Amino acid sequence: MTRESQRPRPASAPIWCTALAVAFLANSSPCRADDPYARSRDYDLQNVRTHLWFDIEQRRVRGEVSENIAALRDNVSALQFDSVSLTIESVAVDGRAAKFSVTPDKLVVALEHPAARGEKHEILIHYQGQPKKGLYFILPDKNYPQQPKEIWTQGEAEDTRYYIPLYDYPNDRTTSEMILTVPAAWITVSNGRLVGVKDEADGTKTWDWKQSEPLSTYLISMVAGEFVEREETWRGIPLRFVVPRGRESTIEPTFKRTTEMLDYFSDKLGVPYPWAQYAQTSVDDFVEGGMENTSATTLTTHTLENPKLAPEDRVGGDDVTSHELAHQWFGDLVTCKDWASLWLNEGFADYFQYLWTERRYGADDADFEFWRDQTEWMRQVRNFPVPIVNRDFTDSSEYEGNIYDKAGWVVRMLREKLGDDNFFRGLHHYLEVNRGENVVTADLQKAIEQATAINVDKFFDQWVFGAGAPKFEVTYAYDASTRQVNLGFRQTQKVEGRVGLFDVPVEIEIATASGRQTHTVELSEASQTISFPTDGPPLMVVFDKGDKILKSVDFKKDPAMLSYQLKNAETTPDRADAAVALSSVRNDPNALAALGDAAQHDPFWGVRVEALRALGKIGGPDAEKAVLAAGSDPTPWVRDVAVRALGNFKDDPSLPSRLSNIAATDPAYRVRSEALGALGAIKAPDAFEELSAAVKTDSPDDMIRDAALRALGTLGDARAVPILMEWSQLGKPMEGRQAAIAGLGRLDKTNKEITRALISYLNEPYFDARNSAIFALGERGDPDAIAPLEEMLKNSELTLSTGPYIELALRMLKTPPATR
Ligand SMILES: [Zn+2]
Repeated sequence: MTRESQRPRPASAPIWCTALAVAFLANSSPCRADDPYARSRDYDLQNVRTHLWFDIEQRRVRGEVSENIAALRDNVSALQFDSVSLTIESVAVDGRAAKFSVTPDKLVVALEHPAARGEKHEILIHYQGQPKKGLYFILPDKNYPQQPKEIWTQGEAEDTRYYIPLYDYPNDRTTSEMILTVPAAWITVSNGRLVGVKDEADGTKTWDWKQSEPLSTYLISMVAGEFVEREETWRGIPLRFVVPRGRESTIEPTFKRTTEMLDYFSDKLGVPYPWAQYAQTSVDDFVEGGMENTSATTLTTHTLENPKLAPEDRVGGDDVTSHELAHQWFGDLVTCKDWASLWLNEGFADYFQYLWTERRYGADDADFEFWRDQTEWMRQVRNFPVPIVNRDFTDSSEYEGNIYDKAGWVVRMLREKLGDDNFFRGLHHYLEVNRGENVVTADLQKAIEQATAINVDKFFDQWVFGAGAPKFEVTYAYDASTRQVNLGFRQTQKVEGRVGLFDVPVEIEIATASGRQTHTVELSEASQTISFPTDGPPLMVVFDKGDKILKSVDFKKDPAMLSYQLKNAETTPDRADAAVALSSVRNDPNALAALGDAAQHDPFWGVRVEALRALGKIGGPDAEKAVLAAGSDPTPWVRDVAVRALGNFKDDPSLPSRLSNIAATDPAYRVRSEALGALGAIKAPDAFEELSAAVKTDSPDDMIRDAALRALGTLGDARAVPILMEWSQLGKPMEGRQAAIAGLGRLDKTNKEITRALISYLNEPYFDARNSAIFALGERGDPDAIAPLEEMLKNSELTLSTGPYIELALRMLKTPPATR
């Protein structure tokens, strides 16, 4: 699954907001599993054939499900099915009416005679319900009459039971069939192969989908509605690209690289894509970023790429689409046995997202993405003492940052440790021996050792079952008499609980006037000193060249050495590190010149971005000159950072007109949006007039309007209240509402009318607007919001990502900003 918080956002969305959200959401939960261990089973679910009918206006579902089971032990007198809020109308066992009872979360079916191990039965259940989770109706209403009708499901973690009564925990697999009777004009998508579509007497149509290879039930999916579809074939397998009616133009830019990804992953793993089709369906108001349902991924429409914006979007939807595609192997073909093993799904999907980046955009891009994730993860202090494999779900926390970001890093380090040949051979073997199975971490360890003869137990103990990462402090001295560089290494992480000392290989690079030398050292002690011979005083000393180990480093270097590193280090993380370190250097013209040079001329965009950020942080007229010189960068995602950096030079009286000019003329919408944001941030004298005019401007995906609405919030001018109130209202486009709601969160904190409006948005059915209101209330800091948010948190029918959003907002409301 791709986290809702991680989904692509419009370039104009405030980065700080997302970073903050991610930092807090580190403690949030993609699976509030009630049971951290897989269950002991009474029976094996072997096939589930579900037929669904919908009462669309009433948002009700009627179902008939036939399930084939085989007893797994003797004396099974009753069968339990997970079932929540469904009305069970009748149950038959092998064609004969059966007695049953229901509890709040189970359907219990009595067997006439206790079943013996191996005994098979067919259970037929008729039921109906109005699901609050698991199955969602997105329908037009008086506010949004143009909304295409959509019905879709989201099973992970334990929500399939809200619309089908069945065994619903990942330690079992079943074949499945999904039969959907829907209006004739609709399109449907489900797992597996489309067996056929037939016309019904009442003018509806019935679609029959069959998944012949077993899956775990959280991966069952159905989507139906007013969609449009394009079909292609890849190696004989149908590919479906499905979007809501009216969004046809996004199919090409969003999905054009799917076949290339399928080729790459299939060939790299030596395991061909394993399912009968691959459908990617975008749905409105989706409750997650993306979900890897077997052979039928569901994506949020936020992933869809407007063709007019594609040229200024670095990766477009590639990050989410490659992540979900990788899950078709890691998660679907081989599935975690319990939620504590979820990293076997998410860590690999996260890693393969970067493997795709490496393939498509180059190793520099991939390394840089890991470098950024590392900084983010190290900031998430709550994750640090908790291992990746963790069974403590008691505070409903699931440590997302560990399951995704750290786990992705662990897979990267594993590749580094094994080397490419062994790494991919190990993964191939792991997938083949566990194909169609449910796994725990030991299965991966064992498969790697079998395939490569390399024992990885210590590596896993340290990185997966142990917590944290090394925090290095490095000291440096050059002894001219012996021509030696003496480096002191200390591991400063607090060694307690599951956090130990780390044993890691680290590459040290030392450059002198006559060249470079690289040494690999094994660091395992709390404190170590190692001397390296050189042929002269070093110009650069790089610790962990290329950033291969997940860690933090405190290594004080003088500005000349950092400037040299910024210009000359081979890898992008090492140059980016130097830019970040130089941002703390003041009153040093050479350092400033080095940053200015990097901001304009570094061959990699990410280093130019870090140099620009550093210049913005340093401030002053010389730094501003350097930023302006980089303002004509050909890359839009560098230019927008330059504009944001400009916002730091508030003392320059010509800044407002400069920003206005960029907002009016830059060829990239993302850069113009950023300029509007900066006008609000510096509280430029005419900003209100300019921003309120920009609110009236049409642009692709309303990017300019939404940026202006956000900027009006930052500006903090009371005249913006009616504009933001208007655009936050029901009936306005949803992304505009989100921008206006975010803006309102920052306006006049004493204005109770705003708080009341935001609270009222908590009760509406639109997921996106609701989440924006939750966050805005948290940011706003009016304690009136505490009670309604706490009330909302009590609702057991919240979707997976809403609960953590509320917890985040409540923490913000209860914690003074300084201590957050
Ligand atoms: Zn995922």
